[in-house]
Amino acid sequence: MIRTRFAPSPTGDLHVGGAWTALAAYALARHHGGEIVLRIEDIDTPRVVKGSRERIEADLAWLGLRFDERSDTIGPSLQSHRSERYERALEHLAKRGDTYLCDCSRAEIARAASAPHEGEETVYPGTCRNADPARPMKRAPSVRLRIAQDLAIAFTDLVQGEFRQNLSDDVGDFVLKRGDGVYSYQLAVAVDDAEMGITDVVRGSDLVASTPRQLLLMSLLDLTPPPRYWHVPLVISASGDRLAKRVREATVTSLRDKGVSPEAIVGHLAAGLGLSKDASPRTPDELIASLTTISFARESWTLPLNW
Ligand code: GLU
Repeated sequence: MIRTRFAPSPTGDLHVGGAWTALAAYALARHHGGEIVLRIEDIDTPRVVKGSRERIEADLAWLGLRFDERSDTIGPSLQSHRSERYERALEHLAKRGDTYLCDCSRAEIARAASAPHEGEETVYPGTCRNADPARPMKRAPSVRLRIAQDLAIAFTDLVQGEFRQNLSDDVGDFVLKRGDGVYSYQLAVAVDDAEMGITDVVRGSDLVASTPRQLLLMSLLDLTPPPRYWHVPLVISASGDRLAKRVREATVTSLRDKGVSPEAIVGHLAAGLGLSKDASPRTPDELIASLTTISFARESWTLPLNW
């Protein structure tokens, strides 16, 4: 059975880009008679905005998106309740000798690393890789994953096609737990997708470069088989920029306040995603009933000026 998830971070209101991903994951699951779970990614507590989880849930319900509950939780699953699982995963990796403590500051890393090209992440230069773990730490250390030399990971994305990344050159020893005690997105997502039995991850293409890290973690943690991945194109604003959460006009709430109906939003999103020929208003379930197959568009989609 297909089981997908929608995994918003409660750091602001649901924006159209979030609704877009949610509808894509919903369509894939429901078209195959499968399940979709809601996972609230509230692990980065300093960034969590109070009340946004409730508002996101209300907006999803208003759009007509219903989620399946998990038998071991009531309602959606919350990453903030799952720290124990992430700690266990970290211990497993530490026992294998795959982790080390790093007490570099951001500035030290930036100085030591070669200049990243635009849009690239800074690759950690490995300063603490072979340092004595019993040394006095300059600050609360983070935990990093030791990446083997020349480690390349490839996978077939069901929307974007082949994707290959050399982890040692393009990413480096990445953080699993920050110095302030927050588990990293990469670790939490790898553990959660595997433990929640997610067969198909549907999310925005801005996250495609995270997938090799998550696949590596799942393999080191013996969490197999990995899910299939569908990285859907992004939603861009009429001015051609990536949709940022702070763009207020692009939140579901702001559209509702303007009198736009949920069916109109779903109709436009469905057409943009390539799930329907036209943008006529419909509920998610009317959309599911009309689908004969799932084939997502590959091009980014521009927000309409008139809904
Ligand atoms: N929580 C992430 C976000 O809101 C999505 C993570 C994922 O789908 O893997 O951007």
